[in-house]
Amino acid sequence: MSWRATLLTLFPEMFPGPLGHSLAGRALSRGSWSIEARDIRSFATDKHRTVDDTPFGGGAGMVMRPDVADAACAWAQEGNPGAPLVYLTPRGRPLGQDLVRELAAGPGVILFCGRYEGLDQRVIEARGMREVSVGDYVLSGGEPAALVLLDACVRLLPGVMGGAASAEEESFSAGGRGPLLEYPHYTRPAEWNGLRVPDVLVSGHHAEVARWRAAQSEAATRERRPDLWRRREELDGAAPAAYTSA
Ligand code: SAM
Repeated sequence: MSWRATLLTLFPEMFPGPLGHSLAGRALSRGSWSIEARDIRSFATDKHRTVDDTPFGGGAGMVMRPDVADAACAWAQEGNPGAPLVYLTPRGRPLGQDLVRELAAGPGVILFCGRYEGLDQRVIEARGMREVSVGDYVLSGGEPAALVLLDACVRLLPGVMGGAASAEEESFSAGGRGPLLEYPHYTRPAEWNGLRVPDVLVSGHHAEVARWRAAQSEAATRERRPDLWRRREELDGAAPAAYTSA
């Protein structure tokens, strides 16, 4: 059975959206993964198909009702058994490559996309939802967050990406050590607007290229993401050796 994504959303027409194109889209057409988006409103029971209500305790905005959300989750879990149920929320665990790898290795995922001020806490707890954030900013809904999470997972599914090696080398792929950002890329022409690519990349010395790339990764991580660099130092016990030109 292929990897299965179930979306609970007020806007099912947003899916597969960009995931219907390029690598993910071709993999979808081949059946390497599947996606079903269901309108949460279809689980409402009143004639106005209400999914939200005012917050207890007062305050601005509306809150998604637990009874409607619970019925939607029950339906999703029946159709996608064993898949983790994820609520996308800025209050959640930050999405990282480790979680992406874990989700991609499983049977699929059920994603609940919030709207308004979010979802009633009781259904999050009662359903044991995993709360995941795609970053420290507030989106107007969970749908773009779901697309981000799905894109990151789908490209790791077997046979979806052409060169498996590229997944191992790219940013955040640690291979047991703390993750690093990737080295910079260059392509033809070798000189553009008076700017040459670094000599080492056209030297033909594979070991030198590998050393240069490792040093570039380390330097970028140290400068741009001191949090990642500290983690790596903690895991290593010592900073990796710096690049020296032969
Ligand atoms: N009141 C919420 C707060 O301050 O945490 C924000 C609600 S937001 C307007 C509506 C929905 O967008 C959320 O319920 C969630 O599903 C989604 N969302 C917004 N930002 C997100 C993020 N950074 N990561 C994941 N989902 C997000």
